[in-house]
Amino acid sequence: MNNNSSFSHKSQEPENSVLYVVGTPIGNLNDMSFRAINILKNVSLIACEDTRQTKKLMHKFQITNNLISFNKYNSFKKIPRIIDDLKEGKSIAIVSDAGLPSICDPGENLVKAAKSNGLNIICIPGPCAALTALVSSGFPSSKFTFQGFLPKKRKDREEVLKEISECEKTSVLYESPHRLKKLLIELKEYCGKERKIVIFRELTKKFEEHIGTNAEMILNFFDRKEVLGEITVVIDGIQNDKFLEFDKFELRKELNELINAGLSLSSASKYLAKKKGLTKNMVYSLY
Ligand code: SAM
Repeated sequence: MNNNSSFSHKSQEPENSVLYVVGTPIGNLNDMSFRAINILKNVSLIACEDTRQTKKLMHKFQITNNLISFNKYNSFKKIPRIIDDLKEGKSIAIVSDAGLPSICDPGENLVKAAKSNGLNIICIPGPCAALTALVSSGFPSSKFTFQGFLPKKRKDREEVLKEISECEKTSVLYESPHRLKKLLIELKEYCGKERKIVIFRELTKKFEEHIGTNAEMILNFFDRKEVLGEITVVIDGIQNDKFLEFDKFELRKELNELINAGLSLSSASKYLAKKKGLTKNMVYSLY
């Protein structure tokens, strides 16, 4: 157990009483690391999101070990027992179906519980769809915002869409294939026609595809086609220089005139945005 904030690696892994957060491939099994295989072979127990999925991985790398299921439905029930096992000296690994546990996957609450019980946590880094897409996008990648899956509730969703539309950094998000078209329509509305967007389908797999360069083009690409596979969406940050090209004072004046003439703020912003090639939110926020 570690009650200090300092922690150093021992030469022999896995160590007793350590929770290992192990990254696994997001499609291409050759991305599995030697260190991850060693940990999964030698920990006392592997907590995994879906035992069937992890068994496939174990079979590929000839790993035999004890598995327990640990997912969003049973995690709160399972955490106390895992913490007790760690305290008794067991080493435990957590894996998700693909990628890094805790990134839109189970793991976060277990790590939190282990930490608050003074236990050590070691992450064995591995692939993550968000970062793989980000660094392939060509958009600025040293500062970015990760949004995970967008909320489904309308109000919360609109808030995040607005945040993305005004964000200066690159935004990365996950989306399921059957909701992609709806999301692209929303992104077009919030971020404008010209905002650069690339979607990454089936990263690291045989039929990996990068489709861009803006919402309309991607929608055209999928016109009358079913979207299949796993998708990560990367959105360029707002180009502030574009906004600076416009005199905000003049723009605000025009907006006021339209409102005084009887248009609602929403309609006036929409009209001006279209006229000037800006997003509705850019104009709206001037009011
Ligand atoms: N923990 C995972 C990670 O580290 O990337 C993410 C798990 S989250 C439940 C699954 C979502 O990640 C998918 O719906 C998709 O948006 C994205 N994703 C996972 N694998 C992908 C891949 N090979 N290509 C594109 N996106 C992927």
